[in-house]
Amino acid sequence: MKKWYAILLFTTTCVQAQERVSTTMIGGQPMVNIAELEKRSHLKLLGGQGGDGIAAHSVATENFDIHYYQCDWTLNPEIRYIKGNITPHFIMKQASDSIVFDLVRVLTVDSVLFRGNKIAFYQSAENGLVIKFPAALSVGSKGAVTICYQGVPPNLTSPNGNFFQGLHRSVYAIYTLSEPYGSSVWWPCKNGLTDKADSIDISVTTPSIYTPSSNGLLEREERDGDQTTSHFKHRYPIATYLVALAITKYIVDKDSVMLGDRKMPVLMYTHIASKPDYYKPATAQVIQCLPKFSELFGMYPFQKEHYAQTQWGLGGGMEHQTNSFIVDRWNNLVAHELGHQWFGNKVTCGSWSDLWLNEGFATYTEFAYYEHFMPSVHLSYIASMMNAITASPGGSVYTTDTTNYNRLFGPLTYYKGGLVVHMLRWVLGDEVFHKGVRAYLDDPAVKYGYARTGDLKRVMEQVSGKNLDSFFDKWIYKEGYPSYKLTWSQNNNNWASVKLNQTTSHSSVAFFEMPVALKFKNATRDTILVVDHRFSGQTFALNVGFAADTVLIDPLLKVISKGNTTTKEAAPTTADQLKIYPNPAPDNLQIALGNPTDKTMVIQLFNTTGQLVYQRKLNMAGNDEQWQIPMQQYPKGVYYLRLKGEKNIDLVQKILH
Ligand SMILES: [Zn+2]
Repeated sequence: MKKWYAILLFTTTCVQAQERVSTTMIGGQPMVNIAELEKRSHLKLLGGQGGDGIAAHSVATENFDIHYYQCDWTLNPEIRYIKGNITPHFIMKQASDSIVFDLVRVLTVDSVLFRGNKIAFYQSAENGLVIKFPAALSVGSKGAVTICYQGVPPNLTSPNGNFFQGLHRSVYAIYTLSEPYGSSVWWPCKNGLTDKADSIDISVTTPSIYTPSSNGLLEREERDGDQTTSHFKHRYPIATYLVALAITKYIVDKDSVMLGDRKMPVLMYTHIASKPDYYKPATAQVIQCLPKFSELFGMYPFQKEHYAQTQWGLGGGMEHQTNSFIVDRWNNLVAHELGHQWFGNKVTCGSWSDLWLNEGFATYTEFAYYEHFMPSVHLSYIASMMNAITASPGGSVYTTDTTNYNRLFGPLTYYKGGLVVHMLRWVLGDEVFHKGVRAYLDDPAVKYGYARTGDLKRVMEQVSGKNLDSFFDKWIYKEGYPSYKLTWSQNNNNWASVKLNQTTSHSSVAFFEMPVALKFKNATRDTILVVDHRFSGQTFALNVGFAADTVLIDPLLKVISKGNTTTKEAAPTTADQLKIYPNPAPDNLQIALGNPTDKTMVIQLFNTTGQLVYQRKLNMAGNDEQWQIPMQQYPKGVYYLRLKGEKNIDLVQKILH
């Protein structure tokens, strides 16, 4: 499939949310390039400079454990300003008279309340909010503080910041995007990947002409003059970067899907400037995917609440918990952000180095969408990602460079990560893979929490009973991919003799041990046989069952590879070619038989007194065969070897030992 890019460019003058996207046509379907878009969203927010300015992204202390945030915000999309009262509830993990939150210093904290009284605090140079209690709190004691703050969320180096305020399609809008380091750019919280709140309540007061969209269920709306306060309630654990607001003029469409025993709402917040039905296909796709993803990966993680999609203007999509923000209705974008609700939201990467646990799996859910609902596109979609990944010889899925946004939100994390998940399924088999993935998402150590790459490996090993050291080491931490060179011949009984060589594109891996599918075909027939490739130069005898003229390596694209070649060699055609060697035979006596025409044979060895000292009965499937008789166990002397097939082979030969 030829690949082409269409660049749609909407340019505007003032501070506008830009919707510049690139799509690829695959199988007649436009595919949005998600890695590119998610990266662009983040780069835009950071002015293309990477995350250096907020590289030290959390100074929050670990002496307290957040279990709940109450967030009350007052906002107007026409003005770049935020005013909020945030009330975190927490439990002390260590006795201390202070705790520290993350909050950019340019936002001003007016007061901090504790048990009804104002208490001491200061905002540190490192964007920390240091709160001092009147007396030390003991281990295990519960507390809550209310942080009253306001100000202009900073732009960092770009016009938008993690907090976009401006015109989107000529309507004022506020859109937040906190991943990876930007929560504390607009609200005081723990900005790292260590501490999920168990639940959150969000109330947004905004002019009534605007509609806010946020996490969880909209519980109620209260109108007061020209202002409306919308109360959102979310009763699942949530990482702070997944907390979000979108506020503009929306039309809210409500639909539903049966999930388990519940008719769960499915919402679409469509920008008022869009055609009213424009996002109906996105809602229909979600209704199609939610039961299928629940079957494959376990129940939708927020089934007691809902799933919403909200149109926004910040580029690609962002998987805000229970409410993905999407720039358009593309199939792969819709599947990807929905897939994140399992991979990223229910189980969140435990460090940004492990971002592939979010993005690789979300990319894999795009594959799953095509596999089940658009099968004609499935293989070409995987092929396009393999082509993108094998364009460079190196690059690992895992990265230690978490301030380089091009690297972090790049093809290695998304495409290679997705393809590694795809290969893990190939290595483990469909049933074990899906069982393993469900077990991973429900593993007590990571469920509704954080996971590292080692957690995934541990669970997949437990479920499969396989050692996955080499797989993870080579495909996640090391670099490159294999190229296969296959030579083959086929004998007169349709057995193929195959030799499979492998070279690798990067010196960090000498050999990738993988099962490799080989498709043998002629004009009318084909069959796929899988070989377990453990070393370069390994040979296999395969019963093809018909005379093939062609072999294709990995025809269903199960393994990342490039530059594979096959060469057919002429097979010896003479029937019943026997070789018996060496003679004299001091150690092992070798018997080789080419193109046997008999299906059974008996090998016998007699000594000079006519006593039978060795016998072996063989079933031969028709391929070239080789056996050995260990002669060391017999006294030195003369022996007679007899080979007797059911009709054609009958031979007696004197052997010296
Ligand atoms: Zn993603």
